[in-house]
Amino acid sequence: MIAEQETLKRQREQQLDELKFRFFTNISHEFRTPLALIITPLELLIKRTTNESIKNELEKILHSANDLLSLVNQLLDFRRLEQKGEQLKPAAVSIKSFIESNVSRFNELTKEKHINLVCECQFTDEDIFYLDSEKITRVINNLLSNAIKFTSEGGLISIQAGWTGISQTHPEPDGISISVSDTGIGIHKKDLNNIFERFYQSDNQNDGEHLNTGSGIGLHLSKGYVELHHGTIKAESEEGKGSRFTIWLPLSEHAVQEKSTVTQQQTTGSLPNDSQSTSSEVQNSSPTEEANTILIVEDNESFRHFMRELLHNDYNILLASDGQEGLEMAQHYNPDLIISDVMMPRMDGYALCRAIKSDAQCSHIPFVLLTAKNSSESRSGAYDAGADSFIAKPFDIDVLTSRIHQLLEQKLKRQDSFIHEVKIDPKEITISDIDEEFIKKAVDCVEKNIENPDYSVESLSTDIGVDRSHLYRKMQAIVGLKPSEFIRNIRLKRAAYLLENSKYPVQQISLMVGFNTPRYFSLYFKETYGMTPSQYLQQKRAQNNRHSEA
Ligand code: ADP
Repeated sequence: MIAEQETLKRQREQQLDELKFRFFTNISHEFRTPLALIITPLELLIKRTTNESIKNELEKILHSANDLLSLVNQLLDFRRLEQKGEQLKPAAVSIKSFIESNVSRFNELTKEKHINLVCECQFTDEDIFYLDSEKITRVINNLLSNAIKFTSEGGLISIQAGWTGISQTHPEPDGISISVSDTGIGIHKKDLNNIFERFYQSDNQNDGEHLNTGSGIGLHLSKGYVELHHGTIKAESEEGKGSRFTIWLPLSEHAVQEKSTVTQQQTTGSLPNDSQSTSSEVQNSSPTEEANTILIVEDNESFRHFMRELLHNDYNILLASDGQEGLEMAQHYNPDLIISDVMMPRMDGYALCRAIKSDAQCSHIPFVLLTAKNSSESRSGAYDAGADSFIAKPFDIDVLTSRIHQLLEQKLKRQDSFIHEVKIDPKEITISDIDEEFIKKAVDCVEKNIENPDYSVESLSTDIGVDRSHLYRKMQAIVGLKPSEFIRNIRLKRAAYLLENSKYPVQQISLMVGFNTPRYFSLYFKETYGMTPSQYLQQKRAQNNRHSEA
């Protein structure tokens, strides 16, 4: 009886816990839109104002609003981790610049607090490590924020990082270790074992000077992220003297294999960190296979950070700090969508959009311009430049996310209609004149050679006058097919047309459209149109009869 009551009580507690969590998650979501509506107009004001002291004050407000957004996101991340819904998205990173750029984000803050910040990194520029850069960035940020929070003026914070498993000083198995030491207030022995528990805050900070504004989930989240990597995190501390947090991440087998085959693209485009983003090479998260990749082009660092925070849960994010850098990154990474601000140094958003839409390599990428105001002037400016959509600032987060979703969906619909429709209208399936021309030319080339079963991808790329990799990239982006599939698809379209509009027997049509083997013809036809050529013929005849009877 008592046992039953105990179980019931536990169940009730769990339900209550779950309700509380759900409430927190919903509230956190609700916070994001008003925050966006504070941050976007602020960013505009900062850009417009010429008065330096007002600008400084506004930047402070923006900084705090971004901190608040980070906190809200941390709550959401925490919820996902608790529900075991968090997945690792590892990519090869250039580990030295990854650590150094993460640390350099804290230069200003430590200077303001008169704290010395030193970073001793034993890695070389060539060292590559496989990790989820977004999650480890959060871990490093948490450790550094805590160190700064609990260290007084004149103190020292040092970061040490290097390979492990190669020397007596690093006896752990093969991997890397990153430690953050401070000369702050330290942690009481009794608390040391508990600080990684959720919501735990020791009372060390109640000394009047070190006001704790945190939520007690930073270390819990950090531990979760490190353990997702099969790594460890430990804390050493002496009250009144300081603390040292060390994370160790193993060199996974995957990483060993990848290490030797890592591509240039992976080694250079690995970090999500956007601090002082002048070089595209080390500031961006490397695209993973499944999710779409969005390139955000924005010169204001805080706003770039804000956009990344908004979108990083659903998309791979690339960041560029002006139009010129944006163009280079679009050409290099071929993202699925570009979101760009208008006013930027070196190359503005309109010029970037024009450059993208007139470059055959990138003209297929949907482009969203973030215009300053909702006037018809900025709208026509955006469309004149060739943008697929524009959003006036300040925007509602839901408007932005649904627009992104729409544009990516439309691309899939266009691809689907190309594959399954018999008639091709290049205008319908493309979003720029260059792409329309490209598809027209490709269709013409295949149609001219439709009876030739040996007409290959090589022949097509020679006839269009582009190299094979360009042909592959464009075909995939516009119609979602490899060039060989594209050629076959055009043959099948002609076959469907002939089945409907001529009296040739199926076998002959198969030869007329370049299929040597009728069995393959039938197989591929069924794959595309959902029925064999004979069934298709019957269906069309029946339809025609019905039409003529009516
Ligand atoms: P919070 O958001 O409250 O900082 P954390 O999970 O990051 O949450 O940290 C939990 C607690 O551990 C803190 O409230 C603080 O008491 C203690 N702590 C963490 N890092 C340090 C540090 N570097 N020095 C002293 N105390 C620390």
